Amino acid sequence: ITGPDLQSLVSQIADEMRARPDRGRVADYIPELARVDPAYFGMAVALPDGTVAAAGDADTPFSIQSISKVFTLTLALGIAGDRLWKRVGREPSGSAFNSIVQLESEKGVPRNPFINAGAIAVTDVILSGHKPREALGEILRFMRFLSDDQGVAIDKAVAESEQRTGFRNMALANYMKSFGVIENPVDYTLGVYFHHCAIAMSCRQLALAGRFLAQSGRHPATGLSVIQAERARRINAIMLTCGHYDGSGEFAYRVGLPGKSGVGGGILAVVPGQASIAVWSPGLDAAGNSHLGRIALEAFAKRSGVSIFGA
Ligand code: GLN
Repeated sequence: ITGPDLQSLVSQIADEMRARPDRGRVADYIPELARVDPAYFGMAVALPDGTVAAAGDADTPFSIQSISKVFTLTLALGIAGDRLWKRVGREPSGSAFNSIVQLESEKGVPRNPFINAGAIAVTDVILSGHKPREALGEILRFMRFLSDDQGVAIDKAVAESEQRTGFRNMALANYMKSFGVIENPVDYTLGVYFHHCAIAMSCRQLALAGRFLAQSGRHPATGLSVIQAERARRINAIMLTCGHYDGSGEFAYRVGLPGKSGVGGGILAVVPGQASIAVWSPGLDAAGNSHLGRIALEAFAKRSGVSIFGA
């Protein structure tokens, strides 16, 4: 993928998406998210040198929701290393993002770090030994460092909205706690979880933040190693197999890149060695993934010829 062509491709896709009548349905189980206008569409592609090709509403912050789980997984692996895999599995779930059913047969150990139960267990690992405020500060600092932008912040209204209505997540956390999978007080763990899901970022910020996954774990702006190359590769693998819940197979089939979605309508996708891509369209499909976001990434992959499965 190269410079000027890349910008015209991104602009073209944004124009096409904005003209489409099909938008999917905005998530309404978090009241604050139900108010977002489904007409937004943004896209940004960040290259290793920091160049960004952006179009549409690429600079409007949105609720990253479950995309934050890629970054909390990265932090938790840094804290616990491979011991993390005692607390959470790494197999696709084949069920909804907020499903509770598998927890019973698997003794409270969630299938993977990207479904809600798994992400709550990961947050608990980051929280241990800290106050909730410190753990949250650590996550936020990490996002600001990765995106080279001190402006990244938490949308308090979204966090509080979810805290008031997140009964299913409370059930998941309490159920895991009954098996000893959650170490901290459930309220503390959930508080940190709801707040990191409520981080607001633009497509541009998110694409920049994802670069380390496309660059073998290196932060291109500073040259620092965020994580080892092997770990970046493995996080990409989990994004491919689990990043879109029960739509992960379809996303791999259509787009052919590791990706992670959020119910705010964002998707972060990685082209290993080449680029980090963020798209945002708030309307979701039946599996809770951005409807037009996926279609835009499919168009991008097809027209630019990128795929981890070959040309
Ligand atoms: N905060 C949301 C929840 O816990 C995240 C879900 C998502 O983005 N899929 O329900």
